Amino acid sequence: MEAQQSRRAEEPPPRRRADRRAAEQPRRGVTRRALLLTGGAVGLGAAGYLAAERPRWMYRVPGIDRPRKEGEVDHRGAEWIAASGANWRRADRPYDFRIDRVVIHVIQGDYAVAVKVFQDPGHRASTHYVVRTSDGHVAQMVRELDVAYHAGNRSYNERSVGIEHEGFVDRADTITDATYRASAALTAGICDRYDLPRDREHIVGHVEIPGTDHTDPGPHWDWDRYLRMVRDVPVTSRKPEDGDEAEG
Ligand SMILES: [Zn+2]
Repeated sequence: MEAQQSRRAEEPPPRRRADRRAAEQPRRGVTRRALLLTGGAVGLGAAGYLAAERPRWMYRVPGIDRPRKEGEVDHRGAEWIAASGANWRRADRPYDFRIDRVVIHVIQGDYAVAVKVFQDPGHRASTHYVVRTSDGHVAQMVRELDVAYHAGNRSYNERSVGIEHEGFVDRADTITDATYRASAALTAGICDRYDLPRDREHIVGHVEIPGTDHTDPGPHWDWDRYLRMVRDVPVTSRKPEDGDEAEG
């Protein structure tokens, strides 16, 4: 989960990077324009930047806005609980930003509180998924095509899917079999959807994100066990377009 002080990490990167990326993607005029606008927003505060980054007209440009259905989820069986729109950014992944990793978090709190704060527009942070300890129930709060603010690092947010797990970094008993099982299925599916190897290069902890002051998922997160479980999940060929209806 994001601390308040991580908010500034959502501010845009130096202009040079935006320019370089624009040059790499000349085939997409919209993307280039969006990146130039991004560069032009340097110096605004987080709130001003969020408002300025994607003008509303841009949502209607073909190609940047695939059809979305309220309640649709990317992970079969997930419950859709929408995060506040202030806590994530509309995007068109993997077409505008390539998704290259899954970021594993531990909430430092319980499921109900996490779901509540991500619905709070003042929180300025969110995640794609929240996993419940008691039964491995999965809530999806941001679509995978959109950018959730979970890693405290703008470019990592743009290229990752975030999973929050109910629990505490210093309490081993809060990370349960149900947590690992549900999370492994979720992560395996994400890896398959974006053609990512199921390895530690592409499945990382929040603590590994450059610039973070967060320590989650912490010393009790059993990476060897988790990776084994992720790899044991049968390969799927499902793509993001095949979104499911949420099962409440
Ligand atoms: Zn975290």
